[in-house]
Amino acid sequence: MITEDLVREVALDLLRRTVTRLPADVEKGLKDAFESETEEVPKMQLKAILENIKLAKDNVKPVCQDTGITIFYVSMPTGVEIDVEKAITEGVRQATKEVPLRPNAVHPMTRKNPGDNVGLRMPYFNYKFWDRDYLEITVMAKGAGSENMSKLAMLTPSQGIKGIKEFVLNEVVRASGNPCPPTIVGLGIGGSADISGKLAKEALMRPIDQPNEDPEIAKLEKELKEALNELGIGPMGLGGKTTVLGVNIEYAYCHTASLPVSLNFQCWAARRGTVQIHPDGTVKHITHEG
Ligand code: SF4
Repeated sequence: MITEDLVREVALDLLRRTVTRLPADVEKGLKDAFESETEEVPKMQLKAILENIKLAKDNVKPVCQDTGITIFYVSMPTGVEIDVEKAITEGVRQATKEVPLRPNAVHPMTRKNPGDNVGLRMPYFNYKFWDRDYLEITVMAKGAGSENMSKLAMLTPSQGIKGIKEFVLNEVVRASGNPCPPTIVGLGIGGSADISGKLAKEALMRPIDQPNEDPEIAKLEKELKEALNELGIGPMGLGGKTTVLGVNIEYAYCHTASLPVSLNFQCWAARRGTVQIHPDGTVKHITHEG
């Protein structure tokens, strides 16, 4: 049975797994990048990142001191009568103490820090209601270095794909080493200004080895990845072939007079985790087994 206590425990455990171990696709992407680099400096940077990941995993310690802010995606079955949001929020409080997570969440104006990563609209929740019988919780622990490089462009429809490519290339050059490359570039195309921002972040939740199902969008993802890796920014901005591990795009239909494009960076410490809680109380880890 799904109880508030179980959801709290699962949220705490999910956060511990997510901030101490990267998802398999990201770790593989970093290993492949290490193999493909030929120059000493990018190889050294990637070696240090991979050693860091191993140490974090072995010692169950966060992969980066910036454990981010917590953004949740919750898929709810019908008939769940418990307060899932309250339970997950309690899990965040507990994880802040026990993992520990750096207390990053502050009031945006006073900068007052409650010390537990909890405040108004933080953790942030995105909900979906579905007809499956289990509850699925996904978390992204999002650091500021990459988030601060995010950008929205309200392009004109006539700028089209060329305009999208120019925007992305310019922004990756502008960001340079700030978002701790190699990054994953999340793009939200269409919708409205706010919808494209949400889509850009959602794009980062998809594994980098899963192209968009739409072949046209998948082609754009591939072309952008190749073009960005020609820029030479490289791991940690110190030069090299690997500026991005992937480009993920989500899109929505938009007004005929608009072409919103949002870009959300994810650093190499691409922490995202998913877990399911089934009606009999069985917990199934999707991204972080074991
Ligand atoms: S951008 Fe990512 S890797 Fe860099 S300090 Fe922030 S969380 Fe850590």
